[in-house]
Amino acid sequence: MGVIARYREHLPVGPATPEVDLNEGSTPLVASRNIGRALGLKHLYFKYEGLNPTGSFKDRGMVVAVAKALEGGSRVLICASTGNTSASMAAYAARTGVRAIVVVPSGAGRAQGAPPEIALNKLSQALMYGAKVVALKGNFDFALETVRDLTSHYPVALMNSVNPHRIAGQKTAAFEIVDELGDAPDYLVLPVGNAGNITAYWKGFREYHAAGRATRLPRMVGAQAEGAAPIVTGSPVANPKTLASAIRIGNPASWEGATSARDESGGLIAAVTDTEIISAQIRLASSEGLFAEPASAAPLALLFRLVRDGKIDRDAVTVVVLTGSGLKDPEAALKNVEPPIELDGDARTLAKVLKL
Ligand SMILES: *Cc1c(COP(=O)(O)O)cnc(C)c1O
Repeated sequence: MGVIARYREHLPVGPATPEVDLNEGSTPLVASRNIGRALGLKHLYFKYEGLNPTGSFKDRGMVVAVAKALEGGSRVLICASTGNTSASMAAYAARTGVRAIVVVPSGAGRAQGAPPEIALNKLSQALMYGAKVVALKGNFDFALETVRDLTSHYPVALMNSVNPHRIAGQKTAAFEIVDELGDAPDYLVLPVGNAGNITAYWKGFREYHAAGRATRLPRMVGAQAEGAAPIVTGSPVANPKTLASAIRIGNPASWEGATSARDESGGLIAAVTDTEIISAQIRLASSEGLFAEPASAAPLALLFRLVRDGKIDRDAVTVVVLTGSGLKDPEAALKNVEPPIELDGDARTLAKVLKL
């Protein structure tokens, strides 16, 4: 069952909305075995959104946005993307037989050795699903601006998270957490890029609370990358830099949604360094068996710091959202782990090398 079928009464869909799904949503809420214990946190969970059909939470909002675009008669879908939005849009376009156009930042002028603007596996997804991919000179913010300009003049449906149906679909992740835990957590920790997701989670928690499905609201804790932290510093970043490409955004479209979520919930949004992100990504994979992409490790990096600074109540229920699969961007990960051992030998030499 997809998110539309599971949460139909909470979504802007009706009898005229076509049925679309890839069985997205209903992702596992994995209880921490090791990191929680090491931090002294009694109730730490990971919402593993990497298990969505295209490998990120983007599928939750995309399925609703595509269904609504089809309902409205659209035959051409477009988005600007740092990778996962394009993968998701292209999949649902393929599924429903409409045209998909993806505009990704080409990263013109980036320094040699700097990380690519979009992860190779995300690009390969969009191409395999059959989207027309345009690598537009400039960064993500410029790509989004250009796509918004285009959709205001041509009959092409805009599928970025400025499309309110994206936010509506993405809020279902908050519902799932409450349904599983029996109530809202005390802290919801997630990465913040274009800020659609923090906006969506906050909306979901508030709606469920208003409907009597939860007795409380979580504090919303957002993580940005230090080189791309406009909401933390309070002003747009012209040249956002971080290896976490999914949150390499200098002027978030849902800026206000993020600050409202933070302020209304008594939460916070803070920045972590790329070094902290990598180290959290490795720790998550090697001590929990959960491989998440760099952007998804940013909230865990922030949690480490907040615990160290005594800012998290240890009895609290904390949920960290792992927004995308580690398989999305193996290049970023491989730079930071030991390479395989090259060996030409038998079992004895193997045992010796392994110090058995
Ligand atoms: C899109 C994305 C984000 C950022 O979400 P926003 O809604 O843009 O704040 C974070 N992590 C991953 C893996 C993403 O795909």
